[in-house]
Amino acid sequence: MCEMCRDNPFDRFRPSRRKLLLVAASLVSAKAAGAKETKKESKAPPKPQNVLSPDASLERLLKGNGRYVEGVSLRHDFKHEREALAGGQNPYAAILSCADSRIAPEYAFDSGRGDLFVCRVAGNFATSEMIASLEYAVAVLGVPLILVLGHESCGAVDAAIKSLKDDKALPGHMPSLVEGIAPAVKAVSQQAGDVLGKAIRQNVIDNVRKLNSATPILSAAVEQRKLKVVGGVYGLRDGRVEMMA
Ligand SMILES: [Zn+2]
Repeated sequence: MCEMCRDNPFDRFRPSRRKLLLVAASLVSAKAAGAKETKKESKAPPKPQNVLSPDASLERLLKGNGRYVEGVSLRHDFKHEREALAGGQNPYAAILSCADSRIAPEYAFDSGRGDLFVCRVAGNFATSEMIASLEYAVAVLGVPLILVLGHESCGAVDAAIKSLKDDKALPGHMPSLVEGIAPAVKAVSQQAGDVLGKAIRQNVIDNVRKLNSATPILSAAVEQRKLKVVGGVYGLRDGRVEMMA
């Protein structure tokens, strides 16, 4: 049984921290010891079909989205999958998504359990905790692709635009969301046209860039072509994810 997948979800992360450091060292230095550790981790994955290159992972995501859009999603065998996944996980992609209830990455990409490592926060921006979670996905679980997924009519981005425009703080802890989204809003605020749509796209672009350059783990994996970070925007009306260049 995988030592990172015990019953207590918090226990999973304790031993993995040590392993994370080891694998991180392998990504940075590419020394033989590190490479061995990565190899060991990829032995007998619970879902062999999830061992993919970054490009193949993206292709699979887009094909899944195509099925979802057309309403021909696969039937997922949750019962039999459950046993295979009890001993570990090897998702084929990680997704940094908005928390909006209308965006459901597993549905949108027609994927089953153990396929997607999904991190969600309103406004889909990369906090330290998000980066740490994605580092775990890449360095320990071997995820080859991260997709930053924004969406049409994002309420968090809209609220950030209004809060900054009116110079009026939101209640509670919500100003921390505004702070995270603010760079994208400020970058497009002087542009004409659909400011919300532009800020949503800019926010995706900014966070793709942030993850690509997040040292030491993600940037090293990108450099070694073990990882690709891409961005997309989900259309609420048709469910299609439009990839961004
Ligand atoms: Zn949103």
